[in-house]
Amino acid sequence: MPQYTAPLRDMQFVLHELHQVEAELRDLPAHAELDADTMNQILEEGGKFAADILFPLNHSGDREGCTFNPETHAVRAPQGFKDAYKQYVEAGWPALSCDPAFGGQGLPMVVNNAFYEMLNAANQAWTMYPGLSHGAYECLHTHGTAAQQALYLPKLVSGEWTGTMCLTESHCGTDLGLLKTRAMPQADGSYQLTGSKIFISAGEHDLAANIIHLVLARLPDAPVGTKGISLFIVPKFMPDTEGKPGPRNPITCGAIEEKMGIHGNATCQINLDGATGWLIGEPHRGLNAMFVMMNAARLGVGMQSLGLTEVAYQNAQAYAKDRLQGRALGGTKSEDTPADPIIVHPDVRRMLLTARAYAEGGRAFTSYIALMIDRELNHPDAMQRQEAADEVALLTPVVKAFLTDNAWIATSEAMQVYGGHGYIAEWGMEQYVRDARINMIYEGTNTIQSLDLLGRKVLMDNGAKLRKFGEKIQAFVVENGSDEAMSEFISPLADIGDKLTKLTMEIGMKAFQNRDEIGAAAVPYMRVVGHMVFAYFFARMAKIALEKESSGDNFYTAKLATARFYFARLLPETAMLIRQARSGAGNLMALDASLF
Ligand SMILES: Cc1cc2nc3c(=O)[nH]c(=O)nc-3n(C[C@H](O)[C@H](O)[C@H](O)COP(=O)(O)OP(=O)(O)OC[C@H]3O[C@@H](n4cnc5c(N)ncnc54)[C@H](O)[C@@H]3O)c2cc1C
Repeated sequence: MPQYTAPLRDMQFVLHELHQVEAELRDLPAHAELDADTMNQILEEGGKFAADILFPLNHSGDREGCTFNPETHAVRAPQGFKDAYKQYVEAGWPALSCDPAFGGQGLPMVVNNAFYEMLNAANQAWTMYPGLSHGAYECLHTHGTAAQQALYLPKLVSGEWTGTMCLTESHCGTDLGLLKTRAMPQADGSYQLTGSKIFISAGEHDLAANIIHLVLARLPDAPVGTKGISLFIVPKFMPDTEGKPGPRNPITCGAIEEKMGIHGNATCQINLDGATGWLIGEPHRGLNAMFVMMNAARLGVGMQSLGLTEVAYQNAQAYAKDRLQGRALGGTKSEDTPADPIIVHPDVRRMLLTARAYAEGGRAFTSYIALMIDRELNHPDAMQRQEAADEVALLTPVVKAFLTDNAWIATSEAMQVYGGHGYIAEWGMEQYVRDARINMIYEGTNTIQSLDLLGRKVLMDNGAKLRKFGEKIQAFVVENGSDEAMSEFISPLADIGDKLTKLTMEIGMKAFQNRDEIGAAAVPYMRVVGHMVFAYFFARMAKIALEKESSGDNFYTAKLATARFYFARLLPETAMLIRQARSGAGNLMALDASLF
């Protein structure tokens, strides 16, 4: 059976040594008092909850799945999920990073983010229930009226109620402009919603007393396309003014999907048969409001993949030390056993180090983004807030797409380490591969994330946000350029920065002539940006490791080895990606559709 231990040492390294979080937070009045010890204690407790309560339910939840009752429209989550959720709520975890004005504990995103990595590593399917609730909280916190916030936020913050995001319809996934669900205004200021949504995660379950659906729909006078979409709160049970769940609203589950992974999370068809809802934000500006939830969810999906990468790595390395097959090419390593452990074989090490590097790089990157969100929300200086917001906007699609692609590779490599046993359910590794696959699809497919990065965040902005982030990398390169020990990291980092600049200009020029050039380059381009970001953080981590290696703490030796592996074996993927991105649209568009 698989195992999981929260990677607290690496989290502490990333938070305190790499990002100097305590000092960074001192600039933010809301978090200025938070010290490193408190953060560590919270993460230690969070790690225990993840490992002791959630992790044991991961495999059983996958085997059992959710159960749908067509007569009552009720959904039961796998055994143990409800009790784990009760413990989660009783311990106050849902409130961790929420606004104290609504019962939250007011901790920064950077702590919540690390906590979510552990929850996801332990049990992604379970974590989606509170994860979506937190997204709904963020959306209402930003766009809800005071009355809506007073009614719904305390319940979402406490975890008594959960949330969903209802966008997708059978004919409308990526292109939300096609959606048909209708919302008719009522005399009392509410709306009556009719339509059918599909693939709604956590859309129905038995974990909480009420479910708050955030639903995209069209008003009768809505313009066509995305400019005619509005956002509504549609509760499963309509709350009275004191917030007690009242009559059942006709928003029900029609079926749950049988699917490849995340079996413990109910993926629901949701029917709205004249359900009562209330508008959030302005009419026809629903996508704008929903983007708060979508951006939170995109980062959340990146964290799902980081968690899976870590847990798959942990298990594969343990197996590789235990499994005896063959002898080391350079001569026997273990005289007392009939064969050497497979960790002696170079290619097994390549697979392990791939997963390890993607986990450590992903942790450094996502903690940085979370810190930037804390700055964006809390820095007293408006310019600092804007700069942080720009970085978050630029890099959110990279977190989503790069980390989820990496997790697909990492979980697959980790499974491969097990040989045939990896393919057998009882070892738990094939579940990680299956669970990881959805992360590349939902919340906007990775193609869409790549188009968002290259088309909107880079080219439409004339590369300004990318240049600004590049300046940070450039400053690090200049600062360390004369340090001999750092040259193995600094030269390739500077090189990938230069190449990305040239690639961006080249695609930008070609796109003037032919917009397909953007679509043809976007996916490899996104991975080049992802690698540049990872190279930057690995170089910074290597610098710390070089400085502290002589302390005798093996942690730094391992960090340095992982950074060297990353630069030698993973970063060179960019050479191929750049060639692919430069090859243009012709090789993709030449073939007439009828010839496929
Ligand atoms: C398990 C699961 C859980 C989900 N949870 C939720 C949820 O909670 N709430 C919710 O609202 N939705 C949810 N979804 C829906 C999910 O977000 C969509 O499936 C996803 O956005 C893709 O939409 P689609 O499936 O309709 O694919 P399509 O939009 O039909 O896309 C098909 C393919 O075409 C590509 N494509 C489409 N348009 C373009 C374009 N303009 N340029 C280039 N390529 C393009 C896509 O990248 C994809 O490869 C979930 C889906 C699943 C499977």
